[in-house]
Formats: sequence, C-alpha cells, structure tokens
Amino acid sequence: MQSLMPVTANSQYFIELEEKYGAHNYHPIPVVLKEGRGVFVYDVDDKRYFDFLSGYSAVNQGHCHPEIVEALISQASKLTLTSRAFYNDQLGEYEKFITAFFGYDKVLPMNTGVEAVETALKLARRWGYRIKGIPENKAKIIVCANNFHGRTSTVISFSTDPSSTKDFGPFMPGFEIIPYNDLRSLEIALQDQDVAGFLVEPIQGEAGVVVPDEGYLQKAKQYCSDARVLFIGDEIQTGLGRTGKMLCCDHENVRPDILILGKALSGGTLPVSAVLADNEIMMLIAPGEHGSTYGGNPLACHIAITALSVLKNEGLVENAAAMGELLRNELRALASPAISTVRGMGLLNAIVIDHADKEAAWSFCLELKENGLLAKPTHGDKIRFAPPLTITRDQMLESVEIIRKSLHVLV
Ligand code: PLP
Repeated sequence: MQSLMPVTANSQYFIELEEKYGAHNYHPIPVVLKEGRGVFVYDVDDKRYFDFLSGYSAVNQGHCHPEIVEALISQASKLTLTSRAFYNDQLGEYEKFITAFFGYDKVLPMNTGVEAVETALKLARRWGYRIKGIPENKAKIIVCANNFHGRTSTVISFSTDPSSTKDFGPFMPGFEIIPYNDLRSLEIALQDQDVAGFLVEPIQGEAGVVVPDEGYLQKAKQYCSDARVLFIGDEIQTGLGRTGKMLCCDHENVRPDILILGKALSGGTLPVSAVLADNEIMMLIAPGEHGSTYGGNPLACHIAITALSVLKNEGLVENAAAMGELLRNELRALASPAISTVRGMGLLNAIVIDHADKEAAWSFCLELKENGLLAKPTHGDKIRFAPPLTITRDQMLESVEIIRKSLHVLV
C-alpha cells in the first residue's frame, strides 16, 4: 500500500521548511493549511477540507469563530498581559464567570493543558498533606493505564506509552497505575491511606476514544469519596461540549473535586487552561507558591468568556450529541469489514481499522485527505473523528460520503 500521496509543489515548499528547521516531534498528514472557517480548513492551493480533528478538540466552536476572533482583536488592542504582579479588569470577571458556569468556588488559570494537569497534581498533594494528613513526601496519585495527560517530565512519569517515556527518565515517583475502567483495581488501590487523588480521563481520547462502562465514573467518584481521595477529572479533551454534555462527567452526574479544562476554552485561538475546585482545596495554595507569567492574562480571560458563551448560546452541546449519533449510525451502516469498531460519545469518536497492512489507517487518512476530509490515526489502527461541534446535518452526511468513497483503499 502506498504510504505517501503526492503533494503540490507549493505544499512541498512548506513541508520541507518544517522538515529542515523544525524538530521532528510530529508526523503530520501532508497537507499545508492556510485558512479555517467553521468546520472547514483550506490548504495553500485553496482546496477545502472538513476538519475531523479540530485541533485535537481545541476548535469545538469552529475555526475562526467570528465572536471569538472579535473578542481576541478587541482585547488585543487594549491590554494583553499584565502578569499577576498587578490586577487587571478582565481576570476577576472571568473568574466569576467560569466558576458560576461550572459551579466551583475558585479557578486557577493556566495556559496549556499539561500545566493545568500539573497544577491539579500539586493541589491534590497539598490537600493530601494539609487536610488528609498524609506523611510528608508520601502522597500518591492513582492514574490509569493508557492515559494521556500531556508531555512534561512529571506527567510522562505515569504514562504507559513507551514512545512518551523511552530515554526520558528518571521519572517522578508517587504515582500508582491501575487499569482503566476497572473498579476492583481502583477499590484496592484506594485502600492505601497515602493516596491523595485519582486522576482520570472520563473517556481516554488519545488512547483511541476508549469509553468506559456506564456507571464507571459514578462508582469511581463514590469510591474516592468513601476513601477520602480527590477525584480529579481531566476534561481537557472531553469537556466543553465535545461528548454531547458540557462536561463528559455530566453524563453520570459526577462532579469532580478538581476539574481540569483546556483546549476549547479559547476556541483554538491561544493556549488557555483552567483548574477548578472549591475553597477547601484551592485555598491551600498561597501567594508565590504556584503560577505562570501568562496564566490569567486579560486576553485569555476575555476570549475564554466568549468561547464558553458561544458553546451555550449556539446550542453546540446539544448539536454534538445529535450529530455524534448521526455519525456513528452512518458509519455503522457502511458495514465495512475493514472497520472493526465504531465508538464514541457526542462528537468524540473513533473507528478501528482491521487490516493486514499496519499502514492501512495512515493510507486511509491520505485517501480521506484526497477526497476532502482531514483526520489522523492514533496508535496505528485507530482514527479519531471529531469535527467542530458546529457541524450541520448536511455537512455530516457529506463527510460520511467522503468516508464511504475512501474505503476502497482498505480492500
Ligand atoms: N489531558 C488530556 C486528556 C489531553 O487530551 C491533552 C492533550 O491532548 C492534555 C492533557 C495535554 O494538553 P496540552 O497539549 O494542551 O498540554
């Protein structure tokens, strides 16, 4: 099977620039994009594509959403960064807005997703020592196998993916890895009195959209409460409407003790992340003990209010639920023997390719690209289908037609 389709001379120029001058820490699909609008992106030759990755779920509101861009421009022309050495007129408004939006006492603003994960881990440890009474330097956090929480040295310390960890050691101690979607293992791990928190993705996105059994999150939360352990929900990928509820945990009426958000909090315009918790946890961090130069900058705050408002005002959460169901039904109806599994919730979906050629998923994505739809394989045989939540019914049916038309490369 052919593994690299031809790209135009124009595209080739930009690809070669990245190859020559950039670190090779990604392996992109060979398409060079220059513009985005709603569910579509356009390459340097003006070819239009459906974006079925949405910047790894950062562009839930659609590319260059006019209200979000307007918020960006208006705030960028007034004030972008003060640092937290001073107050600004956006941060407090944002803090009030987002805490009311999600129902927590406090928010701690950061930038990238992994920074928010790091923040949540520090908060849980602090709580473990100061409130639960765990002896100094003994705090443990339970995590799940096949997790993805980002790329810092601490966070990869509890990754089970060798491509994240090989030759990056030594690693940070204090993490216990249990199987995902396994309540018995959680129950056993929680018997350790030194456990401060349980960090979990409500659906494992990067692992290939692994959806746990119904009731898993609710029971896990209950077990954590019973054991006096903080339930830390990493909703960086699953949150903000992606799975057909505002938070994926909402499907099971679970309220994380610490909630981590990122990605679509800015609608794809700049890195904005947040950690939400109640006073008992958040007030354990005092001035000077944690922070970030850009965290809580006025530009990010102004954009985040708009990005959250757009999700609500445009009914994107409900649309994600309806369009996701349509997508999964249509994909199943294709009845392709090469697609062994169709799974997901809302507009966070994946197919699993069953083919003798281990490059088949990659080749399929190249064919999808040729036909006007962008998606990327994860872990070899899985392809995520996660378009912006603004996608319409007609656009979804057109996308499914592209997928159907591309299946011939899998025979
Ligand atoms: N947590 C989850 C669940 C994610 O999916 C990701 C990114 O894909 C991260 C954390 C890390 O976010 P970032 O890449 O913004 O650091």
